[in-house]
Amino acid sequence: MKICTRCGGEYPEHWFRISRSHSDKSRERFYRRFATRAPVCKGCERTAKDANKRKHRAAFKARTAINRHGKNLADKGIIGNPKELETLYGWDVRIMAHELEHTYSNGCPICHDSFASMVNGYRDLTLDIKDPKQKPWYGSNTQWICLSCNVSKSNRTMEEFGEDQHWWRAWEENQKRMSINPYCALPLFHNYDLPAKGDQLPLMGFGTA
Ligand SMILES: [Zn+2]
Ligand SMILES: [Zn+2]
Repeated sequence: MKICTRCGGEYPEHWFRISRSHSDKSRERFYRRFATRAPVCKGCERTAKDANKRKHRAAFKARTAINRHGKNLADKGIIGNPKELETLYGWDVRIMAHELEHTYSNGCPICHDSFASMVNGYRDLTLDIKDPKQKPWYGSNTQWICLSCNVSKSNRTMEEFGEDQHWWRAWEENQKRMSINPYCALPLFHNYDLPAKGDQLPLMGFGTA
């Protein structure tokens, strides 16, 4: 038995990886008797690796966004050259990675869908330039949103797209009403006011909550 230096748990030897220098196939049999094992158990090692992978994945995605948008904006003449995004407009891989992770775990800020429930998960997260005709200042003119919202926004400005957000909220309210009272979507009942936030939803027809 051996104690893990990270979690303090006591496990059998084989729950600790054999240190790399001793895992060479040809010498394996000889070394197995003298093998040194990693100080950290396999569980802790895996967790550290996963966290690291997530961090790298976010940085990689941020880097890809900078390259893609940089080329695109330079081609359109909105910025002088692709490098300006980083040197002038504040596109910083570390900040971007942090923010996209945040959005990923909190859901799309426009449709409120969670990324875990989307088909492509991480790949459904995209960086949108709010107003594509203005300078691409990071933060004030950018936002991380889901691919579906980005596609449906297309090249509209946030102002033009804003109305969609209003209809999303209305749609969410109707979903809530339907979950309480399925009759509310029927023609005779569709025409009552949307309740204000926090209001008791009116009960109609035969439905009771
Ligand atoms: Zn451990
Ligand atoms: Zn969305």
